[in-house]
Amino acid sequence: MKENFSKYIIIGAGLSGLTSAYKLFGQGVSNFTVLESRDRIGGRIVTQDGIDFGATWFQTHHEAVIELLNELGIEKYHQYNKGKSVLVYSTMAPEHYFENDPNTPSAYRIKGNSQALIHALAKPVLDKIQTNTNVLSISETEEGVRVETDRGLFYGEKVIVTIPPKIATRISFSPELPVEVGVVMDKTHTWMSNAIKVGLTFKEPFWRNKNFSGMLIGQVGAVTELYDHNDAENSHFALMGFVNEGLRDTSEANRKQRILDYLSKYLGPEVLEYLTYEEKDWSKDKHTSCETIKSIYMSPSYGNPVFDKSYLNGKLRFSGAETSLVHGGYMDGAIISGINAAQKIMG
Ligand SMILES: Cc1cc2nc3c(=O)[nH]c(=O)nc-3n(C[C@H](O)[C@H](O)[C@H](O)COP(=O)(O)OP(=O)(O)OC[C@H]3O[C@@H](n4cnc5c(N)ncnc54)[C@H](O)[C@@H]3O)c2cc1C
Repeated sequence: MKENFSKYIIIGAGLSGLTSAYKLFGQGVSNFTVLESRDRIGGRIVTQDGIDFGATWFQTHHEAVIELLNELGIEKYHQYNKGKSVLVYSTMAPEHYFENDPNTPSAYRIKGNSQALIHALAKPVLDKIQTNTNVLSISETEEGVRVETDRGLFYGEKVIVTIPPKIATRISFSPELPVEVGVVMDKTHTWMSNAIKVGLTFKEPFWRNKNFSGMLIGQVGAVTELYDHNDAENSHFALMGFVNEGLRDTSEANRKQRILDYLSKYLGPEVLEYLTYEEKDWSKDKHTSCETIKSIYMSPSYGNPVFDKSYLNGKLRFSGAETSLVHGGYMDGAIISGINAAQKIMG
């Protein structure tokens, strides 16, 4: 048997790849390898200082997320939204305040942050995941597939590619994929790859103490959306939100200053007493993005039928949030595609 051979190879240790790995393992399959280019698992799910810099929320209709959390024994809780929220719709008009309807439940968050889901999925299969391994090419061989990486060659019978389609175009496939598949991959916007998140931690939840919900909404300022980001136990205090993409190309110091000015204007000078301040611009992360982030709010269409077919004579399948027809782009889509891919590759 060839060195580095496993029956199945999963490329990408994000939510989709880890769901496939977890499901394969649950079906008694243990002969597989997960190859991940980053030095960490989780992909677009990453938590730092108790702040989710990637995926955060889900709703009641995200049934695959809820089912998987239940299966893994992970609790969910509601996004905090009590008290006054701030709406800034013009720089010339005064801000508006509103209260969220207590009868309309807010979105859910994951107890232990979104990373809890990633860690629970990976736990039984950790020894099968190889990080720092960038896949460069995938070729069909007589017996299966050959995957070339910057850490050597890997062989398998079949492969699941969970890399966002847009950046999977960097991989060379042999034989080449049908032209229309390449065209669709290239046109499939990677959901949220243009987002810039900011997160701040505090000694006290000063906004709650002042009867603010922490919600600050408006397209005209340095931060377009901000939310309370305390943990489920209300023992770790944080605010998290999305930075106005107009500030992407300004200097780091200037952006930070403008964000702090904006937040302290509407929530109070206590903002300046933060313990930690962190930003993440996903467009600058080569494991998620490519250099062509131009338009801000695209209307992406996901789950193109080309992703439901197999390639390389049935030896390659695509998976990942953007390949899902149901809730494409979201965690729910990533999980649904991961479950489908695991089932189909075994079938
Ligand atoms: C800022 C932000 C906020 C979000 N908010 C929400 C939210 O609130 N709710 C929600 O439902 N969803 C949200 N999402 C979307 C959610 O994060 C994704 O749907 C989900 O995490 C995608 O999982 P995935 O496995 O399909 O892809 P990814 O997480 O992108 O995983 C793909 C993996 O492939 C790896 N990879 C890339 N290239 C290679 C290569 N050449 N070789 C090997 N490995 C490679 C990557 O490093 C990555 O780990 C958000 C995303 C972002 C970025």
